Amino acid sequence: MLQLIDKLIVTHRLEPGEYRLLLEKIGGETGAGGNERGGEAATNDSFLDALTAAARKVAIENFGNGVYARGLIEISNFCRNDCLYCGIRRSNRNVARYRLSKEQIVACCRLGADLGFQSFVLQGGEDMGMSDDAIAEIVAEIRREFPRHAITLSLGERGREAFQRFFDAGADRYLLRHETADNQHYTHLHPAEMSLEKRLQALHDLREIGYQVGTGIMVGSPGQTLETLVKDIVFIEHFRPEMVGLGPFLPQHDTPFGGEKPGSLRMTLALLAIFRLMMPRALIPSTTSLATLASEGRVRGILAGANVVMPNLSPVETRALYALYDGKKSFGTEAAEGVAALTSELATIGYQPAFVRGDYRG
Ligand code: SAH
Repeated sequence: MLQLIDKLIVTHRLEPGEYRLLLEKIGGETGAGGNERGGEAATNDSFLDALTAAARKVAIENFGNGVYARGLIEISNFCRNDCLYCGIRRSNRNVARYRLSKEQIVACCRLGADLGFQSFVLQGGEDMGMSDDAIAEIVAEIRREFPRHAITLSLGERGREAFQRFFDAGADRYLLRHETADNQHYTHLHPAEMSLEKRLQALHDLREIGYQVGTGIMVGSPGQTLETLVKDIVFIEHFRPEMVGLGPFLPQHDTPFGGEKPGSLRMTLALLAIFRLMMPRALIPSTTSLATLASEGRVRGILAGANVVMPNLSPVETRALYALYDGKKSFGTEAAEGVAALTSELATIGYQPAFVRGDYRG
């Protein structure tokens, strides 16, 4: 088994059957099941330890002990989609909807820049109340005021023309998780009007336009199996995204999946490590959902090879409204508090936030 880890370190890939063996060794099911939620199981698992230690070594070789900090701004929780897992899905009537104005978004960037951030991520639902023009103008305004900062968008599928306009206005990167590379599983997670084919088309469009592209999955989403996970790994191996977003699925009580189990900590850490070994220079965040799942989840993600953190710069008033899942954690309500909390959290494992653009360097 340890040979598989060595092979992955050296060749950066495995055969599908070998990925499967590796995942089986980590722990059969992809959901949390039983006793592993943040518990001792992970620390006793020498195989997982070997895998994450190898990934951590590769991350340190490439990035040292600086963790790229990106300021996250959640710009709107309106959404035309009805993804079955997501708390801000269209049919959830219990969400108070909000949309930040251009002025509010730029103010968040200013605050972030004052705190040292050189990289902003604008995330939101597919809010058609915000026109492509309006978004392009927001990007252009941030670009004018912060000519050297990185601008990342994560606004779902808005179509190739829109992607092109946002890029022309100054956006550098786009995050769009494929969510699952298995057709049937995709259908299980999404309403009929969405399809894996459209999602993959959007990812190819983004790449062709010239974005640094991020994709990824939720670990332990309902219906996920070892087969679908192997497909995800193989998809990512072939697509070679610059960024990989990976966190556990967490239930949100107003969604159809509100009663489902959260994803597995061990499986999430194992997948972070696999992607780090596969793509030594990829930008891989230790996500908020991982921090929400388990105490010390965020630092454990870094110790498994992640090299990015995304503290929240959204206004205090709207932050609780961007509730994709229950219990969503943030570093502290004020952005400045958040940075201080992040810095001390990373210091406990000998790392520190790196306030840089943090571009992909292949
Ligand atoms: N509208 C954008 C941004 C969505 S939120 C888009 O569709 O890309 C960003 C990510 O949060 C999603 O891609 C999904 O993988 C994740 N997410 C949504 N609901 C979640 C849940 N219940 N648990 C964990 N992650 C979730």
